[in-house]
Amino acid sequence: MPPSEGEHPLADTRTTSLTAVLERLNDAAAVSPASHAQAETAHQNRLVQVRLGVASGLFASLRAKHAPTAAHSLRVALGCSSWAMMLNLPSKERDEIEAAALLHDVGKIGVPDQILSKATKLNPDEVAAMERHRAFGLDILRQCCASQGILDIVRYAPAWYDGSRGGFDRAGEDLPLGARMVAVLDAFDAMTTDRVYRRAMSRDRALAELFECADVQFDLRLVKNFCELVTSDRVKFNSAVASRWLGQLRAETSNNLWALNERASETTEGCVSAASTVEALFHKKLLESMHDAVIFVDGSLRVSLWNRAAEHLTGLQASAMLQRKWLPSLLDMRDEDGYTIDDNDCPLAHALQSKLQTARRLTVVARDGKKITVDAHMIPVLSRDGVSYGATLLLHDASSEVNLEEKVQFLHEKATRDPLTKVANRAEFDRVLKLFVTEYLEKGQPCSLIICDIDHFKRINDTYGHQAGDEALVSFAGVLRQLWRPGDLVARYGGEEFCILCANCDNQTATQRADDVRRQLAETPQSMLAGKTITASFGVTEVQPGDTDETMLRRADRALLQAKESGRNCVIQLGSGLSGEEKQADSRGWFSWLRPTPPDLLLERNLITAVPLPVAAEKLRGFVADHHAEIVAIDEDHVVLHLEVQHNTSSRRRGDRAVPFQIELRFAEIRIEAEDGRPQQSTRTLIRAAVRPRRNRDRRRRDAIDRARQLVSSVKSYLMAQDYNSKKSNSPDATEDVNKSRAWFGVFVKN
Ligand code: GH3
Ligand code: MG
Ligand code: MG
Repeated sequence: MPPSEGEHPLADTRTTSLTAVLERLNDAAAVSPASHAQAETAHQNRLVQVRLGVASGLFASLRAKHAPTAAHSLRVALGCSSWAMMLNLPSKERDEIEAAALLHDVGKIGVPDQILSKATKLNPDEVAAMERHRAFGLDILRQCCASQGILDIVRYAPAWYDGSRGGFDRAGEDLPLGARMVAVLDAFDAMTTDRVYRRAMSRDRALAELFECADVQFDLRLVKNFCELVTSDRVKFNSAVASRWLGQLRAETSNNLWALNERASETTEGCVSAASTVEALFHKKLLESMHDAVIFVDGSLRVSLWNRAAEHLTGLQASAMLQRKWLPSLLDMRDEDGYTIDDNDCPLAHALQSKLQTARRLTVVARDGKKITVDAHMIPVLSRDGVSYGATLLLHDASSEVNLEEKVQFLHEKATRDPLTKVANRAEFDRVLKLFVTEYLEKGQPCSLIICDIDHFKRINDTYGHQAGDEALVSFAGVLRQLWRPGDLVARYGGEEFCILCANCDNQTATQRADDVRRQLAETPQSMLAGKTITASFGVTEVQPGDTDETMLRRADRALLQAKESGRNCVIQLGSGLSGEEKQADSRGWFSWLRPTPPDLLLERNLITAVPLPVAAEKLRGFVADHHAEIVAIDEDHVVLHLEVQHNTSSRRRGDRAVPFQIELRFAEIRIEAEDGRPQQSTRTLIRAAVRPRRNRDRRRRDAIDRARQLVSSVKSYLMAQDYNSKKSNSPDATEDVNKSRAWFGVFVKN
């Protein structure tokens, strides 16, 4: 007998909340809000424990296997309970119908997950595998169920009323009443619930469907009767069902066979009340209005939230996804290369395990079946003390960004690549060369530049045609690309001229690499030239102190010119590299007795080079050519140059304008004894360099001195000279050298 309300005050509150649950469970179209999901599970546990006792373990197994099926079974059971009450069925029969309804799908425990969770139509093999659940279910129940009534309801619930469905030995009124009722509710609940592959029907539409199939599939009388139930005062029935189930709940709580975990339910109720706080509402509102799909999963990857954007993106309804196990295959997730993300390699599971946030670009199948690119963020949800509560999957539709990125990539290619040979174009080369020179000089590490030009290319065009010429260019670029190492740049400078910037590479190595290419090219027959070979000439140089991108390029160009002049198909190397790196001038040096620096003199250096004067003069020609210097005065041992110096550091604070300088160089050749005192002598050239600004007014002196130092460094590199310092000149073996040079520099000072 259901207890009256007054007798059990405790029952009142529970009746209210259970009624609320029943109301929601019976309302097939209702979507369980995520914040209530936990609370509902706790209430469902109670209801099921009351109905099934020890067998509630079976229901728990079914829910662990496939939560939507368990939720469906509970709704069918509650519906049957109301209906049985309306029909005034005896209590025992009601108990049997409720228990049978709760477990009518228990055999689905034996159906493979991929079939149960499949988002699309099952194929015939899968339908057969699914059908086997009925036999599994009966097998399971036979092991533990003493009631033939329950077994019969479960067995005959799938039978059709007119006996037209094979495999059943009863039809019509011979079918147990409970089985006919479960059949109607089973179909009704399935039709009025969202499924992965279709949306729920309205209640009226589902009833019309039941009528349509009545007499064949269902008992027409029962369908009419059920129609009355659905349109009757459901609140009244639900309250009655709740009271009835609760009556037994109280009876059972005293039975220690299945003592309920009261503390757990208190916590759950606390959670429900928290969910009703403004903050929870705010969060809910935020999640629902977000443009990004947000999916929450618990520690065992069960979906507890599937926001509106997730529905929109995937086409899967929250009601069909809640409590389902999250798997990448649900959305056919693939990585950027199109490889399917295996369910065992789920990024969300990894985030849960590692407790680390990750982000990946993936593709998923969207609602229209098309693949879309998403930026997926997997975020573990941890308590302050690091306990994991689950994880959030955030999916941001990145299709528009991808298009934009592709466009940017396309434009970047266009701006930096040579369309014919696909190596970098001249603009890109110019940009990178500047960076190379600045960076490597600052690091004090070598880098080299190779310029090469196909020999007699004009003849190739003239003989084999422009098309063959183009193909030869592509083939040549291909050979150069083989030379490429990480950090290098291969570029087409123009026409049939190519450059290779060799990172971390000195003159000698670059020359060797260039020669390897030269040889390989000369030995490779070109099919577009009827098997003939082509040759090319190479100029090589290494960055050296005082260089700018322009001086380095001109030096390499000069080397190439010399290679052409030397008969082509060869490699010429120019420049001293970093070996003559500038050191800070020693103010206490041997020359410090010389006159004080005149006011307009920015820098004065005494240099020495191990080559005779004519060689030094020849090397100076390279300096003049590469710096575009103007010779304003010249005599036997004295030259005055005008030139402009661009700053080669990357500092943005300095002005980038070129600064005009005058550099005065005085040469003197000297012979010195060999250090071991043998009669051999060696010839050296002393150089006195003085740098003055050509505009004296507005220069910031610090900047001007820096540039002057850069200029002298470059002179030293070209002339392979070193600073002439006191230490060396004080050596006893160099006495004559010192005396001569002292005299010589003295003359210079008098001038
Ligand atoms: P050298 O050995 O002195 O370098 O002689 P060369 O004939 O290679 O040099 P020249 O500069 O006289 O001629 C270069 C030729 O390259 C002329 C031009 O028609 C051809 N050329 C430049 N760009 C292209 C191109 O993109 N495709 C083809 N097919 N020919 C090109
Ligand atoms: Mg050429
Ligand atoms: Mg050329």
